Amino acid sequence: MDRTIPYKIYLSEEELPRAWYNVKAHMKRQHPPFLDPKTGKPCPREALERVFCSECVDQELNETDERIAIPEEILSFYRMFRPSPLVRAYFLERMLDTPAEIYYKFEGNNTSGSHKLNSAAAQAYYAKKQGLAGVTTETGAGQWGTALAMAAAFFGLKLDVFMVKVSYEQKPFRKEVMRTYGANVIPSPSDTTEAGRRILKAFPGTGGSLGCAIAEAVETAQNRESCRYVLGSVLDHVLLHQSVIGLEAKAALEKYGVDVDMVIGCMGGGSNFGGLIAPFMGEKLMGRNDIEFVGVEPASCPSLTRGKYAYDYCDSAQMTPLAKMYTLGCGFMPSPTHSGGLRYHGMSPVISQLYADGYLRAVAVEQKRVFDAAVAFARCEGILPAPESAHAICAAMDEALACKRTGKKKRILFGLTGTGYFDMTAYKQYNDGTMSDSSPTEEELERGFASIPRVPAAD
Ligand SMILES: *Cc1c(COP(=O)(O)O)cnc(C)c1O
Repeated sequence: MDRTIPYKIYLSEEELPRAWYNVKAHMKRQHPPFLDPKTGKPCPREALERVFCSECVDQELNETDERIAIPEEILSFYRMFRPSPLVRAYFLERMLDTPAEIYYKFEGNNTSGSHKLNSAAAQAYYAKKQGLAGVTTETGAGQWGTALAMAAAFFGLKLDVFMVKVSYEQKPFRKEVMRTYGANVIPSPSDTTEAGRRILKAFPGTGGSLGCAIAEAVETAQNRESCRYVLGSVLDHVLLHQSVIGLEAKAALEKYGVDVDMVIGCMGGGSNFGGLIAPFMGEKLMGRNDIEFVGVEPASCPSLTRGKYAYDYCDSAQMTPLAKMYTLGCGFMPSPTHSGGLRYHGMSPVISQLYADGYLRAVAVEQKRVFDAAVAFARCEGILPAPESAHAICAAMDEALACKRTGKKKRILFGLTGTGYFDMTAYKQYNDGTMSDSSPTEEELERGFASIPRVPAAD
């Protein structure tokens, strides 16, 4: 094995990026603004500020500054788990017997187990700085709730997490981690909100849904003084915070003079992929590289590969403003797969715009193949990946095997977003041979598309 490049490339604490990278500063076309669903007109800034922290709104609307400084308080929190390692996947390369070089950026080295802590830290800090007493959010699979609980504890912020009831019951340890960090975890639907009570009355015994949990979190935030609702993906400011992944990866590769040919990431709402590709994409937009960008989604929830580019609600409760994005329709119900973090009907407006303009490619992969890849990866590289992350592994392995057939020596970078210790029910199904694949039929897609709102014409 040629080891001129170390197995793990670590940056030092001093090399931690001091500013996030705003790819929008280089985009030829910006994505269209949020619309107010009632008027069809762009949402005024004040409307956004009633929901989100002011600094996050500034970042959300910033289309000009390439670099946005990371405040010292956030940097000191980042130092607990960053810089994260960039790994040269020598053992995976050997197992695949490929001429390709494979690198992965590992974001699972913190208690929450995923990259979500990068944005949770920033959003909790800005909420505290604005003088807020607390924030609310929802969580499905539990990764976002856990990350935000850690950040809220660190910055001394009260946190209420509405957790989809089925997850609350199926993942009791996720809930316990959040409670250990001081969060108040409420199974949704609950009787603490109007929205929850309405659902409970209409569907007694329901296991809940993300849409309902969002509705409860938003309602609670709006009824409390000094409280805001925070979101862990999709939005531009979340992608901005996640750019720390791409910046570190780029700096580590530059240390060894490695130019990658391809960057691959899994996509739920698009935040880790958007953050990983940001600085590489910025340079591509300036004509300085010709990197191929590949986003990977589950075949069961294929928003880029089979969705429509349209204005849609960000949540199934239809409470949010409308965003222009690739979407399966806010009423689309993905089949229950094991990659909870990728089951989102839409896609980040930034990623959607870049995709529409031809700057990135998307692939959809089936669940069983994803777990084949996850298990192969765990056995040779040692890390037990989150099912979400395994989508990127699967695509990276496909690309490396294509290199073996063509003899091309591509350099592939992929994002390994997290660990899978709380997903052992999924691994059990795989090991027992009871896991199945599912993709929506055309009829199911049509039913989802029918829920895309008709946007009133702005006058
Ligand atoms: C939430 C999550 C994802 C998907 O979210 P994005 O916003 O698309 O990055 C991917 N991997 C893990 C481990 C997650 O927790």
